[in-house]
Amino acid sequence: MPEIITSGLYYPNKIARIYFEAAEHTVGSEAMPDLLRASGLERYIDAYPPDNLERTFDFAEFAALTAGLDMLQVKTLGKPSMAWKTGHQSFKAGLKAYGALAGLGVMVLSLPILPLDFKIKMGLVSMATTFSSFSDQKTEVHEHNDHFTYVIHKCPMCWNRHADTAICEGAGAMLVAGLNWATERDFDVIETQCHARGDETCTFVINKPQN
Ligand SMILES: [Zn+2]
Repeated sequence: MPEIITSGLYYPNKIARIYFEAAEHTVGSEAMPDLLRASGLERYIDAYPPDNLERTFDFAEFAALTAGLDMLQVKTLGKPSMAWKTGHQSFKAGLKAYGALAGLGVMVLSLPILPLDFKIKMGLVSMATTFSSFSDQKTEVHEHNDHFTYVIHKCPMCWNRHADTAICEGAGAMLVAGLNWATERDFDVIETQCHARGDETCTFVINKPQN
């Protein structure tokens, strides 16, 4: 059983609940208790975090569930990965839960005449603002000549995890889903820096489309 060392950084329960439900959607409800046990999260079996905005769900537990998905992935292979599917699914559910709260949606999609770069930026900024204001996940978006970066300063996906490669695929998948919502197109999202690998931040690059 992995030991979970708490971080003192929190998501609201609502975000955690969305992630648990997305994981269940990915692995199936029958496999979920085993996944939670293997992740050291057995206390959440049949007792997912409540649907409220209290910031009491520790990043370390979020990372533990993500690590559990990655362990399961090693056994089952298959693409896209479980972490990717779970992140992607989380955006859809999160949009329902947070779209109205954060004022997302109306502006970006209702103005089809806007340049694509602007829509990409608005999509990224909307997501970063949601996480920065509702949780301890401080997130920034930077625009460069030919790309954007989405920078997570304290990343719940890989909190206290160590790896040789970038492992926050789930966060990247959430961005893919969010960008699809904002632009109705699919973009590649590449994690170029990862805290689990010793980098300071988890940083994702989205190239601007060539005109
Ligand atoms: Zn990370």
